[in-house]
Amino acid sequence: MFGRVVELAERAALRAGPERALGLLHYFPERAFDAVRRARFQRTVRLAAARSPFYREQFRRRGIDARRVDDPSQLGDFYTTGDDLRAHGPDRFLVGRADTAFETTGTTSPVPKRIFFSRREISDMGRLSALWLHVLGLRPGDRVVSAFDCSFWVSPYVLRSGLEWLRCFHVEAGKIDPCEFYDRAAVYLPTVIFGEPSWIVRLSEIAQVRGRWPLKFLLAGGENIGEPSRELVERVWGAPLYLNYGQTESFGALGAECRMKNGYHRNDLHFFFEVANADADGYGEMVYTTLSRDVMPLIRYRSTDVTTLIDEPCGCGISMGRLGKIRGRCDEMVVCGMGNVGPWVFEEILRGIDGIGDDWRVAVLFDGPRDVVELHVEMEDPARVAAVDARVSANLRERFQDFQKNRDMKLYELRVRAHHLGSLRGGARKLRRVVDERQMLPV
Ligand SMILES: [Zn+2]
Repeated sequence: MFGRVVELAERAALRAGPERALGLLHYFPERAFDAVRRARFQRTVRLAAARSPFYREQFRRRGIDARRVDDPSQLGDFYTTGDDLRAHGPDRFLVGRADTAFETTGTTSPVPKRIFFSRREISDMGRLSALWLHVLGLRPGDRVVSAFDCSFWVSPYVLRSGLEWLRCFHVEAGKIDPCEFYDRAAVYLPTVIFGEPSWIVRLSEIAQVRGRWPLKFLLAGGENIGEPSRELVERVWGAPLYLNYGQTESFGALGAECRMKNGYHRNDLHFFFEVANADADGYGEMVYTTLSRDVMPLIRYRSTDVTTLIDEPCGCGISMGRLGKIRGRCDEMVVCGMGNVGPWVFEEILRGIDGIGDDWRVAVLFDGPRDVVELHVEMEDPARVAAVDARVSANLRERFQDFQKNRDMKLYELRVRAHHLGSLRGGARKLRRVVDERQMLPV
């Protein structure tokens, strides 16, 4: 009952303008947020058990009575994974009528995960994004130009919904070549720019040569960024670069950085966060349950991102807890300037190339601010690597248009390195195929 009352108050607060909403939410005690979270968690589990064939079957098999569950820990070893979404298809997860869908690519398989949403959910996330952008300083007088990729991706949609609440000027450029963006965006006198980190780094290199615009801030989403790259961007523009953290499965908005840029403030009203298999430092796989979704709720969804929950107060004064900086991924997928890449991508790139052995590995690293994807292959005669390099480039162009596009835009470099046969494995039984070696934290 308490949870329901607080929930109504929270809804009313979020419907007010950003300034008033922040003022109202500030008066909510932590106990109130906790009550909302629990009430929503119960409702989500019951809804899923009643209407989704996937959850009904999973709960039945484990003897879970959804009516008695009010905390994630009561679900034992039940988790939902990306493979579940792919294997069962979205229909078995649906509990309500969908208005739209988005996809997330890459991961460990070429099959995309498809996630369905309602307009009400879009509007909720938009309001929340608006609130956060207001905290970061966005005002109705600002002029936003976004270079988010609009193809099946959730972020531009959430942004547009948020900007409708903030009522500022907004132009959607799409993810075009940063050179072209620099030429075409200038006339709109942008004060805030949105884009993916590697794209923003490239735009900043161009601005370094051709001159910067007076920006209020830049906001990046879709992948992680190393602190040296962030420093370059901020130095060039003389403005902060903030990161948003989300997944298509979560409809963006899992958390976002504040002006301290030390972890992401959690969206605790709409997600129940847990960390699975935490190590001694409290780092493990972040797992979340959606709390306000009525089309395709996700219960204990394994994000595959490794992080920790931080509840100590933040220097910005906002009381919401944080997710630590993402340390890496549990699977072998790496999100970088090339795109979302996993082993299957490189298997496909190497398919049909003569003169190379079966073993290969990929290291993603930094060269200055740019991501470098180093493809290590084994050859009988490593001196003949140029021929393999040419075939790799040809296969990339032919088989992966998006990755080629990002290469053309200089968002990353692809290098081929040759080794003698049998040297990559170094005695290991299982070769880790794709390894992210970028140092994300300042040394
Ligand atoms: Zn903060």
